[in-house]
Amino acid sequence: MIIIMLGAPASGKGTQSAVVAQKLGIPHISTGDIFRWNIANNTPIGAEAKKYIDKGLLVPDELTINILRDRIEMEDCKDGFVLDGYPRTINQQESLDKMLEDCGKSIDMAINLVVTDEEVVRRISGRRMCKCGKAYHIVTYPSKKPDICDLCNGELYTRKDDTVEVANTRLDTYKKQSEPIIGVYMEKGILVDIDGHNPQDKVSEDVLYEIHKYSSKQGVV
Ligand code: ADP
Ligand code: ZN
Repeated sequence: MIIIMLGAPASGKGTQSAVVAQKLGIPHISTGDIFRWNIANNTPIGAEAKKYIDKGLLVPDELTINILRDRIEMEDCKDGFVLDGYPRTINQQESLDKMLEDCGKSIDMAINLVVTDEEVVRRISGRRMCKCGKAYHIVTYPSKKPDICDLCNGELYTRKDDTVEVANTRLDTYKKQSEPIIGVYMEKGILVDIDGHNPQDKVSEDVLYEIHKYSSKQGVV
């Protein structure tokens, strides 16, 4: 199954993509994570991406599209994958369609996690991350021990782009460049809206319910 997770920054894409990927036994591909890995490992891709990410802007399409293509061509993606944070521009969306078409595949579902602008800024400004991918919020979803991940005991950190200032730019970037993609998937008839304000477990339940409904109709998974 090929699933696209859509939504504003901090809408829960990463968290829910991980849940879905685990449940379906397919890879979770986050372009944001790929860029952050490259930054942490001082690669040329990381150096290029950092210029944009730290400002809340999108990494140019050419680089992003190439990275995505390389990733989904890998062997572990043959039975499907969950895309988190891609596509983010109409250009990326069209090129993804083309890549899939070329190998006789298509997107099964686009899941759109809906949250208000206020919620986006609130979440981003209190977010704490772990290297393992787990996200916390200092007020509404704290780790059990301060600054230590519940899952792996790793030390929590704040993403450089998780400041109020950059959050506003990211939201703006999202509205201008990424939100139009929702309409495209709606027209294709594969869009499902999920209320992203609910607690994480409830959102997961709603997302998995929609996937189940889709799969039983299609006879896939
Ligand atoms: P969030 O959804 O919370 O903003 P991500 O980890 O998905 O977090 O993305 C972080 C940053 O990485 C983005 O603000 C952007 O700069 C860059 N990025 C991630 N995916 C893409 C993409 N598909 N196209 C361009 N830039 C991207
Ligand atoms: Zn962890």
